Amino acid sequence: MARVLLKNVTKKFGNVVAVNNLNLEIRDGEFMVLLGPSGCGKSTTLRMIAGLETPTEGEIWIGDQLVNDIDPTKRNVAMVFQSYALYPHMTVFGNIEFPLRMAGVPKQERIKKVKEVAEFLGIADLLNRKPSELSGGQQQRVALARALVREPQVFLLDEPLSNLDAKIRTQMRFELKKLLSYELGITTVYVTHDQVEAMTMADRIAVMNKGILQQVGTPDEIFYKPKNTFVATFVGSPPMNLIEGSIVEKDGKILFETEHFSLQLPSDVPKAEEAILGFRPQHVEVSLAPKEGYVKGNLLGVEKLGVENYGHIGYGRLEIVVRLPEEIRVMRGEIYWKPQGNRIYIFDPKTRRAIY
Ligand code: ATP
Repeated sequence: MARVLLKNVTKKFGNVVAVNNLNLEIRDGEFMVLLGPSGCGKSTTLRMIAGLETPTEGEIWIGDQLVNDIDPTKRNVAMVFQSYALYPHMTVFGNIEFPLRMAGVPKQERIKKVKEVAEFLGIADLLNRKPSELSGGQQQRVALARALVREPQVFLLDEPLSNLDAKIRTQMRFELKKLLSYELGITTVYVTHDQVEAMTMADRIAVMNKGILQQVGTPDEIFYKPKNTFVATFVGSPPMNLIEGSIVEKDGKILFETEHFSLQLPSDVPKAEEAILGFRPQHVEVSLAPKEGYVKGNLLGVEKLGVENYGHIGYGRLEIVVRLPEEIRVMRGEIYWKPQGNRIYIFDPKTRRAIY
């Protein structure tokens, strides 16, 4: 059993609470992504699991062992850093062999294991090179090989793809996922601030902000059932639209009202004097002609993101972003829109929690 359990874990650096009372279980064999903006505490969490930082409070369990007081080298975890941290003066062979030498593994066995893991990762023909003679993607594979060679129970990765250019990053994303989840089935904790990486790789995502865990769930749960406005806007691109207003009942209809417009909502939405309506730019119907139930707006401009075009509709300081269907090719002017009824969210403006 190589599950990782964090129980009421807090880490303070002086006055800074980097991680605040974190409770999280990473199941045996699970690929868990810690996702959040810079400074949210994800690296600190990973470093505590590795044993490179000590929690100020709380417990960390790996398998059935409480590891708070266990030396990093004895935790049976391996960590890959953003910088790879390869030894520049050693060959690829020497780099991969290094942890085995430190562990006192006999020479013949070391050679066998290095060759095996190098074959496995497709770098067997690079064993005599120095790190400076490798591409970014190859260096990344060497760092992975060095981490894997000791057959750790838990694999920890801190932004391992962020130094690669966009094309290799996309390719390595899938390779890493395939290797760690499908081929090895190893318990993995993966830190990133990149929501696409999180969505495509994770079995479950733990979203953090300011040291506090916001939500844990599958990529679908995080995307379709965000628990609060932070998760709703951090995941998804362009971010979810959030509009302040009130929810009232008029003539048997439930309406969302702002100073600029009124919009009919599904009949089971609860009334609220103050509410935040949320909907994703991708979940909006758009028309150039007026239509029943659509809101009139002024298209300020269009952002072209490859195959998709996003229109910005302005109401004074309020701006709404909607994905434009292919047939709408105008850049400015009058436009009509309506969020898809089953794809809206309501948040409480005080707690920022989802109430619908
Ligand atoms: P990034 O993606 O930028 O690395 P992160 O989410 O991984 O961010 P952490 O590195 O865990 O965030 O940092 C969380 C908070 O703790 C930040 O406010 C950071 O400045 C602070 N912090 C981290 N390490 C230390 C340290 N050794 N001493 C003091 N403060 C620290």
